[in-house]
Formats: sequence, structure tokens, C-alpha cells
Amino acid sequence: MIDLRSDTVTLPTPAMREAMSRAELGDDVYGEDPTVNRLERMAAEIVGMEAAMLVPTGTMGNLAAMLAHCQRGTKAFLGAQAHTYVYEAGGAAALGGIVMTPIRNTDNGEIDLDELRDELERPPDAHFALPALVALENTHNLCAGSAVELSHMTAVAGLAHAHHLPVHLDGARIFNAAIALETTAKKIAESADSVSFCLSKGLACPVGSLLCGSREFIGRARRMRKMLGGGMRQAGIIAAAGIVALETMIDRLVEDHLNARALAEGLGLVAGINVRPVKRRTNMVVFEVDGGAPVATKFAAAMKDRGVIANARGPSSFRAVTHHGISRRDIDRVVAAAAEAAGEVFGD
Ligand SMILES: *Cc1c(COP(=O)(O)O)cnc(C)c1O
Repeated sequence: MIDLRSDTVTLPTPAMREAMSRAELGDDVYGEDPTVNRLERMAAEIVGMEAAMLVPTGTMGNLAAMLAHCQRGTKAFLGAQAHTYVYEAGGAAALGGIVMTPIRNTDNGEIDLDELRDELERPPDAHFALPALVALENTHNLCAGSAVELSHMTAVAGLAHAHHLPVHLDGARIFNAAIALETTAKKIAESADSVSFCLSKGLACPVGSLLCGSREFIGRARRMRKMLGGGMRQAGIIAAAGIVALETMIDRLVEDHLNARALAEGLGLVAGINVRPVKRRTNMVVFEVDGGAPVATKFAAAMKDRGVIANARGPSSFRAVTHHGISRRDIDRVVAAAAEAAGEVFGD
């Protein structure tokens, strides 16, 4: 199977397994796991922040951040298409009593600045929940993986900070963003007061995300992680893979981007398939199949028959993600399979 469903399907590399088997361990809840401590220092350094905390998942990283930034009954502004708003089971609302307030997302993963400004400039009034946080996402998953321009991040941060609100960045794929924007993760994180990123996606680790911020913020976030049940003991087993990832798996993401571009170009030439354009493409391709849901279902089945799977993104659209397990030759096979599948479902 050529599995394009997500970069989360990546498996740990032999170097990771080796590092995991040799990892020096201790009890991380006591702060005594040297491998976790080393990974956390590396993570903080790479995004230019004071401190970092290992969490099992990106979802927990974002949730611990929201809980640490927001009191119950306060508002967090975030994109209407944000992963935290759409895909994290409403955790911030359910567990934090946080009023998640969606702001319109543009196709490029930006948030509507006028809408955000209107929200922030509301006169103080006992009717309204108090604003506490603005959250951004880069790269933007539901916006076809688009990398969000630094200028936009700076503009949002300017607005938020002018209203004394912190900014959290869901940087699950921050290194993909850095490559697409030809900059560094540090530069992207500059606009944010806290940032989370995943080890378990394109970086191919089995488990793990990091939440980064000031020492004081991470101190508070550690209590939230404990509350959420995310205080792990000999977590150096996981962290060891993370260290290998940060040392060796970031630069190769370029390959995934080139493969995604080739895939977008190839699919774009197939009659009946419409590739969603992206200003700053990273490792995702979203495409729509003509003819609505019934045709799309047949198309997916025809692709599966040819050994290719992708995720549905809507009734007639799909998301294909390139990753460490996908080669350039696989991309050629996928495009050939799509041409055949389209021929089959559209008839001639
Ligand atoms: C995957 C993802 C997350 C959550 O990560 P998990 O480790 O799956 O919980 C958060 N934000 C974005 C943008 C993601 O793509």
C-alpha cells in the first residue's frame, strides 16, 4: 500500500530504535530523565524559547497551553479551521471551560484580521467573556497544509500583544513551515509566546510533541500536563527518538515537499481531478473529484484497488500527505493509478 493518509503513519527509523534501546533513563516526573531533559533543551533552543516540555501528543501540548494561558470562562480566539478548534475533541471547552471563539480562516490558513480586531476592540462590558488568548496554526492542516506567511503572524501577534493577550502557535508541522517559507522555526516562533510541535508526524517518531515557552509558562504547563495524566516516568525512551528526529529528520522534509509538488502537478493533469491551489505548499495535496460524492467513493475504491489510500476531506475531496515512507517513484505510481482510476470512474 502507498499510504498517503497522513504523515503520522511514519515509522521510527533504525537509528531511532537504536537510540531508544540505549537511552539513559530516569523518572521524568521528578525531572530526572536525562534524555528527556536533553530533548527539552534542544526543543527550546530550536524555537528560541527558554523552556520546553515533552508531552505524548500534539493535542495534549495544545490543551496544556490553553489551560496554562486561559482561566475558565475566558475567550481564546482561533481560526475556524484550526486543528485545536475542529479536531481536538473540544478539550479546551470541556476540560478548561474556555470559550473557543472562531475567527474566519482564509484559504491560506491566515485568520481574518478585521474580524479579530473587531473582537479585540469590543468595549469592556459585563456581557462578554474576557479575552485571554489568540492562537495560530502553521502549517495549516485544514487549509491544505499551507505555510502561513511570517508577515501575517507578525500582524496577528501585534494585535494580540497590543491588547495584552498572549499568542499560542500550534506548530505541529513548524519545520515544514520553515522550509516552505525559507526561514527557521525560531523565526516563525518569534511571534508566539508559546509553541507546540509534533515529533510524530513528518519527523517520524513513534510518539511525542513538545510545548515550548518561557520558563514561568512551562512551569505552569507542567501542572496542567500532570492534571491531564501526561506526566510520564522513563519517558527518555520516547525522547531518544525525538533527539534523533531533531538531529537528522528535519532537513529531509524538503523531499516530502518536492514529492507533494510533483503529486499536485501530476494529479492536476488528470481529467476530472481538480487540485486545490496552495500559495505555500508543504507536504499535502488536497484535490476534488468531479461528479460529487458517489463518483468520489468509486474513485477511492479504484485507487485502493491499485494500492493507494488517502483520506477523505469532504464529500468529494481528498487529502494526500507525503512523508518519509513515500518515495518519488511512489508518487509516479500514484499519478498513474489516479489516471487509471479516473478513466474507470468517468468512463470514456
Ligand atoms: C496532528 C496535529 C495536532 C495534534 O497532534 P496529535 O499528536 O495527533 O494529538 C495538532 N495540530 C495540528 C495542526 C496537527 O496537524
